[in-house]
Amino acid sequence: MRTFQQILPLRTYLRGVREEGKTVGFVPTMGALHEGHLALFRRARTECDVVVVSIFVNPTQFGPGEDFHTYPRDLNRDLQLASNEEVDALFHPSVEEMYPAGFQTWVEVPELAATLEGSLRPGHFRGVATVVTKLLNIVQPDVAFFGQKDYQQFLVIDRMVRDLNLTCRIAVVPTVREADGLAMSSRNVYLSPEERRAATVLFRALRRAEELVQSGVARADEVARQLEALIDAEPLATREYVALVHPETLQPVHSLATGVTLVALAVRIGRTRLIDNAFIAPPGATA
Ligand code: AMP
Repeated sequence: MRTFQQILPLRTYLRGVREEGKTVGFVPTMGALHEGHLALFRRARTECDVVVVSIFVNPTQFGPGEDFHTYPRDLNRDLQLASNEEVDALFHPSVEEMYPAGFQTWVEVPELAATLEGSLRPGHFRGVATVVTKLLNIVQPDVAFFGQKDYQQFLVIDRMVRDLNLTCRIAVVPTVREADGLAMSSRNVYLSPEERRAATVLFRALRRAEELVQSGVARADEVARQLEALIDAEPLATREYVALVHPETLQPVHSLATGVTLVALAVRIGRTRLIDNAFIAPPGATA
């Protein structure tokens, strides 16, 4: 596995790759790699000749008081995991390499970023869209891979790629979960054993939503009410939002009878903020 900290040598390497007629798959990450990331690497491997991964804890997507400084970082472990997955090139730039003095250009996707995560984390998607634009310009992949776990992020990036006429295709990979349903996340390491048990409340709520819609409950507000009660019954959980929205616009839906709905959750377990989501559909339709 080749590793790069600087943009120019990475570009030179990638020029060589393209001259050989090879396709490039790209997986941007913030490191602290887990099986969710590895699923993206494996998917990239099945679709592309060369797999490029970036590890960059992007300061501009963290708000004041968020966990930028404490975000888990373990580059040596990550290098080992990526190398075991036969990643071809790993890019881990410094903050100065990505945001040199004088940096002032931003990418915004205002409507899709206004809701859910964006409404609670102002500026988050501006940071995400800007860094992903920069990374896609640097790597110029054929396909870039994102996880369904951060579904709103995928939608924002997919919109941005189309609006800015970027040439890569965006692929979304299903959420990888622990045996008890908890979505894998770099932030799960923050959870104490007791909190780790409580954290299954997100998956339990998603499963309840699926059961309710399958049993014929068609009112979104009724499902939301029941999920809120389920989350509130968990003493260590503080609910931030339970949203039932259209999977393309992220606008609230009222009836679940018409098609596929996205259920999106943000819940604090102690001081750790977790998100998860699932598609639900009425009997006879497939999510
Ligand atoms: P992160 O390092 O958390 O920024 O995530 C990097 C990429 O991995 C993003 O596209 C995430 O959506 C994806 N990802 C994170 N957790 C999971 C998971 N449990 N399953 C699938 N993809 C994931």
